[in-house]
Amino acid sequence: MNKLRVLALCLAVSAALLGCTRQVSPEVQRELEQQFHTQSSSENTASTGSSAAVQQSTPSESAPSAPDEPQPVYTQVSFKAVGDNLIHNTIYLQAADRAAEGEEYDFYPAYSRVEPLLEGADLAFINQETLLASQVFEPSSYPMFNSPTQVGDTMLSLGFNLISHANNHALDKGVKGIEATLDYWDAKIEEGADILVTGIFRNEEDMNTPRIIEKNGITFALVAFTEHTNGLMLPSTSENRIIYTSETELMQQQIEAARELADVVLVSVHWGVENSHSVTDAQRNLAQQLIDWGADVILGTHPHVLQPIEQLTSTDGKSTGYVIYSLGNFISAQSAGDNLIGGVLSITFEKEQLSGVVTISKPVLTPIVTHYETAWQKNLELYPLSEYTQELAQSHGVVRNTPAFSLEYIHQMLESVIGDEYLDDIPIPAPAQDSQEETDSPQTEQEEAA
Ligand SMILES: [Zn+2]
Repeated sequence: MNKLRVLALCLAVSAALLGCTRQVSPEVQRELEQQFHTQSSSENTASTGSSAAVQQSTPSESAPSAPDEPQPVYTQVSFKAVGDNLIHNTIYLQAADRAAEGEEYDFYPAYSRVEPLLEGADLAFINQETLLASQVFEPSSYPMFNSPTQVGDTMLSLGFNLISHANNHALDKGVKGIEATLDYWDAKIEEGADILVTGIFRNEEDMNTPRIIEKNGITFALVAFTEHTNGLMLPSTSENRIIYTSETELMQQQIEAARELADVVLVSVHWGVENSHSVTDAQRNLAQQLIDWGADVILGTHPHVLQPIEQLTSTDGKSTGYVIYSLGNFISAQSAGDNLIGGVLSITFEKEQLSGVVTISKPVLTPIVTHYETAWQKNLELYPLSEYTQELAQSHGVVRNTPAFSLEYIHQMLESVIGDEYLDDIPIPAPAQDSQEETDSPQTEQEEAA
């Protein structure tokens, strides 16, 4: 067996092991076969040519191959994704309290415990649910959000470099909110941030400029769509653009353009029913279309709770991809137990540079918990579930709304929604003593998401 045959076999095996996608698209298959044939014939030529001595002396199957034979070159990209970064007033007021002298806000402490889950990621996606337009508008909470730009600074420091604003809050502050948010990100890009920002656009041309980023020899495209913008529409005089899931042709064009340019197409979709773990028919149908058009990974957001992960096959059977219907919240001050359980999704992409074959590992979700104390949502902080304790669960401010909230509750929800196949393995600790304290704080204004 010569080395190229071994390579082909390795690719097939590693594709099968890794789990997925465009392993061998027809073009790649052709390329691979062509390379195989070219190599075989050049070897044949060599074996009968003037420099045939070495070749002729190695006729057996186990013979070493020609010294100039290309060796497979594998590169990998570690990818992470989180859901809605939903910045209620509790969160920015707390960040103001935590700020050092001379600073306005410090959001980092709320996220610091989950930073290790993002370390080492080449690419990290986030749905920035709220606008970052504090240069022109005061910060605001539900139902018309605006967040301090320092939220963005913290997201950059945590390593997020794929940012979507395609969500129902994109128009909370009108076109000025969109422009100010884009100004903020553009300034960061000018300062050297290697990031893709998408979902809200300056104009048509901006919308049609593919968002492409390369890491370790693998190119990624990011496109982002939203089901709606809470009934708000861009004024007809505005050049700004948002892509809605009702714009079928436009979505298809965007994905097909991305497919042409990138090894991997990531699609962010803001869809589904809030506070529901159930996937709607509309989500399922669109997910299938996105895969058919060329999506590799679909990152669902908006329900503010987790929804299942599935592998989908294109209708023509030629490619596969993964969808997580909802990543849940990254951070929020919402008031039901399930809103406070999210996750960090991890995927490894591997490309064999000679053949261009890209394999996608099975996604794994590492659960995270937003913790706060009392109904006033004090000391709000994100935890990896692996560091979350029964004592913390029982002292969680959400217990007044979700009395059953506990480690068992969290694990049961994760098992039933995500399931073992896609869950990071986190042992369930032994039940703690029953030390649940009654919360007698006054009813807080419920911060419902939008
Ligand atoms: Zn939303």
